[in-house]
Amino acid sequence: MKREFERSSRLRSNGQIVRFSTYPNVKRSFQNKEFSKKKKSLILFFKLKHNVYFSVLVRPKQFAKAKVNKINMNNFSIAIHGGAGTLVKGLMTPQLEDQYKTALNESLEAGYTVLENGGTSVDAVETAVKLLEDSPLFNAGKGSVFTAEGTHEMDAAIMEGKELNAGAVSLITGIKNPVSLARDVMDKSYHVFLAGEGAMRFAKDSGHAIEKPDYFYDEVRYQQWLGIKDSNTFQLDHSAKKEGKFGTVGAVACDQNGNIAAATSTGGMTNKKWGRVGDSPMIGAGNYANNNTCAVSCTGSGEFFIRGVVAYDVSCLMEFKGLSVADAASEVIHKRILKIKGDGGLIAVDANGNISMPFNTEGMYRGSKTSKGEKYIAIYKE
Ligand code: ASP
Repeated sequence: MKREFERSSRLRSNGQIVRFSTYPNVKRSFQNKEFSKKKKSLILFFKLKHNVYFSVLVRPKQFAKAKVNKINMNNFSIAIHGGAGTLVKGLMTPQLEDQYKTALNESLEAGYTVLENGGTSVDAVETAVKLLEDSPLFNAGKGSVFTAEGTHEMDAAIMEGKELNAGAVSLITGIKNPVSLARDVMDKSYHVFLAGEGAMRFAKDSGHAIEKPDYFYDEVRYQQWLGIKDSNTFQLDHSAKKEGKFGTVGAVACDQNGNIAAATSTGGMTNKKWGRVGDSPMIGAGNYANNNTCAVSCTGSGEFFIRGVVAYDVSCLMEFKGLSVADAASEVIHKRILKIKGDGGLIAVDANGNISMPFNTEGMYRGSKTSKGEKYIAIYKE
């Protein structure tokens, strides 16, 4: 009865009810152009049959609230990163800087368009990350760094904050878009985290194209690897002190329904061996989402981000200390992770669309766009 009544009522922006269609057995419709938000309540009488009436008490506040929810959809927003590290102004040519900004912009706009069209935050982060994976500029997908064996092993994760569903893959080779494989783990398997050969079998079973090694070949990254291949060193892609190609990618988004999501994808560290896995595919370390707090995607020295359980730490500071997303993210990046000498950064969003993008390195490839009309793309500290 109540539901039927509400569905058939109309409220003007000035608070007037201009028409009530009637409940099935009610023979009479009602018009009241005087009804406004200022009035406390209104009793409506309806005639069911001869001499049988019923009344309904209408509270204007309820209508006003429903209207706000319906028309003012949640602020939506997206943020992306392409890795943090030793990004010093002046070390990169203006042309290369433009290429990075163009690639960041394409990813940002593609993800934002998904949100603008009413798509989910999960679709938005997957779309944005796929584009970054397809670019040779970033250490993920096509641009992944070389392992000690001269191969490419990739990791990725995706998580949504409404039901806390998540999917992750690690030590995969030849997959064009690792983030989509992680999405399939989340959507199509009973599991959260698949690694190595098993993850590859799952990829084949779920129809993912396997690219030949040539697809991932990149001269700059090859030279980067040759420089350290015979040593015991492994190197963050973004820590090269010369013009080079920098790392790990990620996206966080808040959609029009206030649902948030995070995705992260990486080729890991140059010259990594022994099946080394970083923070990026680890739920809670490099990637996390919870509608009650925030969605986070990290970049930096994975070993420290694992030990700091960084993404979840940001969420915990919000949940248990009541910090805002900006304060929580800043506390973790500028204090807590620094205490254990961790370098890197993160992007985070809360369920109101507020974004934070702190880093404790010289720079971080990053961008954000909100439904309030703010757009930002940057590389260095500002
Ligand atoms: N966090 C990544 C890893 O340790 C690397 C990066 O962000 O650049 O695998």
